[in-house]
Amino acid sequence: MVLQHTLKEITQIKGIGLHSGLDVTLTLKPAPINKGITFYRTDINSTPLRGLYSNVVDTRNCTALGSDSKNIVSTIEHFMATLYILGIDNLDVEIDNAEIPILDGSSRVFLDILKTKPLEAQEAPAKILRVKKEITYEDKEGCRITMLPSDKLEICFDIDFPSPIVGHQNFNNVIDYSVFEQEIAPCRTFCEKYQVDYLKSIGLIKGGSLENAVVLDGNTILNPEGFRIKNECVNHKVLDTIGDLYTSGYRILSKVIAKKTGHRHNNEILKILFSSQDNYEIV
Ligand SMILES: [Zn+2]
Repeated sequence: MVLQHTLKEITQIKGIGLHSGLDVTLTLKPAPINKGITFYRTDINSTPLRGLYSNVVDTRNCTALGSDSKNIVSTIEHFMATLYILGIDNLDVEIDNAEIPILDGSSRVFLDILKTKPLEAQEAPAKILRVKKEITYEDKEGCRITMLPSDKLEICFDIDFPSPIVGHQNFNNVIDYSVFEQEIAPCRTFCEKYQVDYLKSIGLIKGGSLENAVVLDGNTILNPEGFRIKNECVNHKVLDTIGDLYTSGYRILSKVIAKKTGHRHNNEILKILFSSQDNYEIV
């Protein structure tokens, strides 16, 4: 039987928020059985935010949780993906600002820090959900995500970007620790320079730089070091998907087939998944 786990010790992670550019500190504390991942804004008078799909209020540039216009915690996805792969089921996350630190725009720093921290096995079975029936969410633009039954988490992801430096990329693999550590965790978020210019012009991504994103400009990549790995862009989309799927509150067993999808589609497919108990079983 796989048990639930939490961190054994209090751990801090510091960085800056992508949009605010402000310093932010995460204080991670052990949490009891069946509590799940819960975020607490310590800089404002707020209510706890459970890291669940039903609390997602914004999926435009990241996945954000919220209960009102002030009590928001955004950019949770790279952090959630790291908790998923390490098998951390229960954790209290105190945060002194509105954004999880962007760090290097990937999960590498979260993983490097958290993989060295001892976990505590807890006396309750891990919450595991097996998809029983094929479900699909597709939007008008032809972006589509399908979940099929499987006895493991497998992701097949296709992207097709106009930028020739990205173009068509595909990822198709079972998500286990070594695949995550080597092929997924290092993959940074990416965008086009014109998007950066626009977002900066409306006061967003104040913390954005070549230190925390891959920036493409036509045929060139502006980061002097280039891509970290081949297919870094599609693998980053896989990273986002793993983090978003963990807002189900379960370790999901499914073959996920995604084409050109993002945070919104990941949230919509979870709503469909939980809309009928015929779609899944808890194992
Ligand atoms: Zn991302």
